[in-house]
Amino acid sequence: MEEKTTAPHTPCIFCRIVKGEIPSTIIYEDNTLICFLDIAPANTGHSLIVTKKHFETVTDLPDDTLQHLAVFAKKLAKAMSFALAAEGFNVLMNNRKVAGQLVPHAHIHVIPRYARDGIDLNWRPRKALPALLRDCADKIKRFL
Ligand code: 5GP
Ligand code: ZN
Repeated sequence: MEEKTTAPHTPCIFCRIVKGEIPSTIIYEDNTLICFLDIAPANTGHSLIVTKKHFETVTDLPDDTLQHLAVFAKKLAKAMSFALAAEGFNVLMNNRKVAGQLVPHAHIHVIPRYARDGIDLNWRPRKALPALLRDCADKIKRFL
């Protein structure tokens, strides 16, 4: 059966990169994914792992596609540690506008990190009451 993708109504910038209509600095590609350098990187080497088909978010991805992306993210992080002497990495994915997703085409960021590189990806922690945590866990568990 044909995989269901969410075709964009407006031209999607990452679909255009996949098609080669917009240039990008490609690191790797196969039948499922393309990996290229972010045009506005947090650090040199900041890479995007992008599905070749248009999906919007992590919840739209077929499991095998997500697995393939995740395994490649691991390989890329290892390559960054050798090639760029990265001391750590952020592997992250923004899903939907409220979560900071600017390009609505599923992609994983891999950002090489160094001591004192000044990048701040952290949130301000809130206080969590034990009863609230339990209630929240119960709510989520019901849907797993
Ligand atoms: P998001 O906020 O959607 O998770 O991240 C989108 C990322 O795509 C941003 O970090 C942005 O710099 C990058 N980006 C947007 N347009 C282009 C482009 O045309 N080429 C490349 N290489 N990166 C892009
Ligand atoms: Zn797209």
